[in-house]
Amino acid sequence: MDLKSIKKLTFTINAFILFLVFGLAAFFYYCKATFLLWFSIPTAVVYVLGFYLISREKLEHYVRLVYFWLSLYMSVTTICLGYKLGFHLYCLSMIPIIFYTEYMAEKIGKKKINAVVVSGLIVICYLLSTGYASFQGPVYEVDNSIAGLFWIFNSAIVLFFLIAYSGIMLGMVHDYESRITDIAHKDRLTGLFNRHYMMTKLESAMDEEGDVFVGMADIDNFKQINDKYGHNAGDYVLEKLAKIMNEECKGAEISRWGGEEFLILAKGDAEKTGYALLEKLRKRVESEEFVFEKEHIAVTLTIGVSTRLSGQTVDHWVKDADDKLYFGKKNGKNRVIVHLEQ
Ligand code: GH3
Ligand code: MG
Ligand code: MG
Repeated sequence: MDLKSIKKLTFTINAFILFLVFGLAAFFYYCKATFLLWFSIPTAVVYVLGFYLISREKLEHYVRLVYFWLSLYMSVTTICLGYKLGFHLYCLSMIPIIFYTEYMAEKIGKKKINAVVVSGLIVICYLLSTGYASFQGPVYEVDNSIAGLFWIFNSAIVLFFLIAYSGIMLGMVHDYESRITDIAHKDRLTGLFNRHYMMTKLESAMDEEGDVFVGMADIDNFKQINDKYGHNAGDYVLEKLAKIMNEECKGAEISRWGGEEFLILAKGDAEKTGYALLEKLRKRVESEEFVFEKEHIAVTLTIGVSTRLSGQTVDHWVKDADDKLYFGKKNGKNRVIVHLEQ
């Protein structure tokens, strides 16, 4: 979740609370709870100020202000009307939400909110107000059936906030997790798997049933492309090649093994399946138009292919593909090599 969507969410919650404040003011008028009716005026001002703080992106000030005022509001309403209406329940949802908010604030680079301190203050307000209401009784008497309705209404809102916030937070955690996994597993320029992650794929391929092959592909004369057209043109070639590989080798695991080297892992043997797939890739690259800043760049690949043999280590398997690639480089380039001396 980015700053913009957090702002939007906070704006909606603020509008919802302000709407509630007006509704509750009407109820206080009905109960002749004069003090609470007057108290609704600064409360409404706080939430109007809230809109200003959100629009200026002062979210940490907004959270502090709202939490301070909500705690005060809950305490005052509980002291005045008693705990049978369930206003004190809001304190219970405020505690997990402040921890979520602390997490969100950290992620979007806002100032840290100390959730432990805020929670401690909420607990104090909760104990003082419910304790006072228990020992002294409420200041204003409210009909039992109205109190019951309020208990249900307030409980429903508190539970709704808890469920909605938890859902949003979990979604956010999943989102960060998949981004972090992507960063750890993928190459930034091409979006292909990186070498480190490909090693784990190769290791698990060692235990797979049936034939598996790897293709080690290397761009021909890439240094010349960089020298002639510039490093950005070289990067463009790498990116476009990655796209082509993804299109041509669907179902295969593709990685950027090194600078301009790619390792492709797929099911099947090197002689038939591997050769057919990689020869098709080689031809596609050879015929593809690579145009960078109006310059046409000729790009070709040399590829060494190797089937996994039983008892072989990953290093030997990859080295076999590498040896065939080397052979292809020595013997004309732009070729797919399955056997040495072919
Ligand atoms: P060969 O046909 O024998 O493979 O020759 P080559 O020029 O492709 O190979 P060489 O190993 O001499 O050069 C590889 C070049 O790849 C050198 C390096 O600057 C370039 N390179 C490596 N990584 C990147 C990158 O991320 N972007 C760009 N633009 N160039 C890169
Ligand atoms: Mg090369
Ligand atoms: Mg190379």
